[in-house]
Amino acid sequence: MARWSTGTRVVEEVAWPFTRDPKPTASSLTSSTTSPHRWCRSVRLWRTDLQLSLSCDLEDVFCRWQALSNKSQHSISYTLSRSHSVIVEYTHDTNTDMFQIGRSTESMIDFVVTDTVGSGGSQGGGGGAGEGGGGGGQSAQSTISRYACRIMCERSAPYTARIYAAGFDSSKNIFLGERAAKWRTSDGLMDGLTTNGVLVMHPAGEFVSEPAPGVWREISVCGNVFALRETRSAQQRGKLVENESNTLQDGSLIDLCGATLLWRTPAGLRHTPTLKQLESLRQELNAARPQCPVGFNTLAFPSLAQREIVDKKQPWVYVNCGHVHGYHNWGYRKDKGPAGPGGTVPANTGERECPMCRRVGPYVPLWLGCEGGLYLDAGPPTHAFCPCGHVCSEKTVAGWSQIPLPHGTHAFHAACPFCGTWLTGEQGHIKLIFQGPVD
Ligand SMILES: [Zn+2]
Ligand SMILES: [Zn+2]
Repeated sequence: MARWSTGTRVVEEVAWPFTRDPKPTASSLTSSTTSPHRWCRSVRLWRTDLQLSLSCDLEDVFCRWQALSNKSQHSISYTLSRSHSVIVEYTHDTNTDMFQIGRSTESMIDFVVTDTVGSGGSQGGGGGAGEGGGGGGQSAQSTISRYACRIMCERSAPYTARIYAAGFDSSKNIFLGERAAKWRTSDGLMDGLTTNGVLVMHPAGEFVSEPAPGVWREISVCGNVFALRETRSAQQRGKLVENESNTLQDGSLIDLCGATLLWRTPAGLRHTPTLKQLESLRQELNAARPQCPVGFNTLAFPSLAQREIVDKKQPWVYVNCGHVHGYHNWGYRKDKGPAGPGGTVPANTGERECPMCRRVGPYVPLWLGCEGGLYLDAGPPTHAFCPCGHVCSEKTVAGWSQIPLPHGTHAFHAACPFCGTWLTGEQGHIKLIFQGPVD
């Protein structure tokens, strides 16, 4: 999968021979191509691009052309001003492999990441930690970059993987425009941040044995670690964090502003259930023949492949108490004032009262979380996230409930890793109370 490696770099300063209008329009573009310039080659290039795309930003066209002038090499262009850019060229490195992640479906992106549609109350088997709920559900304006980040993996043991912000485009260029935060480092090299940034959180301890969240940091284009900016895309970078690194470890989270990715190592994945194990956990659960304590009908978790459509035998849960029932259509609370042990209930919320304990709250179908990589262990599926009803092991719910995931420009919220729904309730999860068959 890896095609390119990058390593040693050469810094080259380029001063543009032009002065240009700050915001070129189609007409100013035309006049600039017809007026005499010192550098004819460039004028010709402008014309070529003019034919291809009139809306192209001149600066963008020119920087890309500069990078393109050496097609075999990867480069990063830092635009300092309209007349001054720094282009850093990268050479091949035979010791590492590069994998790129982004929204673009072009071939240089190894892992295509797209926004998940707002997941408030969504059901189904899940499929990676997506954007948290409550966002309205549209993804017309994606905040995920087309070339969001790149991961460099060493080819020899211990196969260290490091993450860097931004990925190379089809012209093997990373282009940091005038507005992107960028600076010269103490050793004279350039570094910068992408518009929405790449945030990383390494777990504080071992992800599987002692899951505890670390601190969210921002990773720069050169892989340096920074404290978070004041807001997600603020101009001013955070403070450099010198004693932390961009090396990924088991349980590291990568936030691309719209999607959060979880990094697992082979050692970490050894603790997680395979699809086959998840299937046998499901069958064990069903073999215990859990019953609805009211209707006395036997409940069964649907197959892992079945998503979205609620099965007739599907178990449902009152998320505030954990009592598992079969589906029933009664128990809605309407216009009630203060409720029993559940506390005050707003009118007409559609919340339900559990017939077992009279606690009031959402009543949702249960789904087994079927992405093994999100599990912290292969323990029995005894717990569920609230309020979405995704079921997995106790350790998995406890671990994820503690992890604040970035949402929007500066909000953080714990979310279900299977569907991205923001967790609610005291702990964000609940122990399921099943009733076995009466015999
Ligand atoms: Zn109950
Ligand atoms: Zn969920």
